Amino acid sequence: MRVLLIGPPGAGKGTQASRIADHFDLARIATGDLLREQVANGTELGKVAKEYMDRGDLVPDDLVIEMTRDRMVEANEEGGYVLDGYPRTLAQAEAAYRWALARGIPFDLTLYFEIEEQELLARLAGRAREEHRSDDTEETVRHRLEVFANQTRPLVDYYQRRGILVPINAVGPIDAISEEIFATLHWHKARTMSAGVNRPEWVLGPTAT
Ligand code: ADP
Repeated sequence: MRVLLIGPPGAGKGTQASRIADHFDLARIATGDLLREQVANGTELGKVAKEYMDRGDLVPDDLVIEMTRDRMVEANEEGGYVLDGYPRTLAQAEAAYRWALARGIPFDLTLYFEIEEQELLARLAGRAREEHRSDDTEETVRHRLEVFANQTRPLVDYYQRRGILVPINAVGPIDAISEEIFATLHWHKARTMSAGVNRPEWVLGPTAT
């Protein structure tokens, strides 16, 4: 199973990604974590990435695309993955799609975490106090929400057109949200395994957008 999570910062993707990974025995690939690791290790990529991350901007597409590919191949061989934080731009989504289709491993489902901005700002202020992340100051948080609205939200339409988007209500008790997600993924798994029903990606084909 290959699942993507899309949602604004603070929507709870990280928490749910870990739970999905445990429940379905998938690898969790979180680009934010991978980038912070590069920064902590002082790699060349980390040095470039840090400047963008501290401003709340997205790291350039080519760096992220490159960093993520090997992990997706490895994880796929071990049963699948849940992607948290990638793709985050249309260019990344297109690159990921063409790449995955060429290997016969297209994404199965995209879960879109729906949540109001007021709720997000409150959550992110809390996280800033707890985790001391350098990109969680109030100003940067606002900027990251704008970046989400401008660059990442268009992916919702993109995956809807591909027929693999499922909206998830990201407000409420964490366990209840997990249950909703698990039910969706179990349903999807059962459906694709039964009677040769194919994945929408294959049905639509690469030129159907
Ligand atoms: P959040 O979801 O709270 O924004 P993340 O840990 O997912 O936090 O990401 C932190 C930062 O890492 C982003 O603001 C961005 O600078 C960078 N980043 C993560 N994923 C990507 C991506 N796919 N493309 C570009 N930049 C990314």
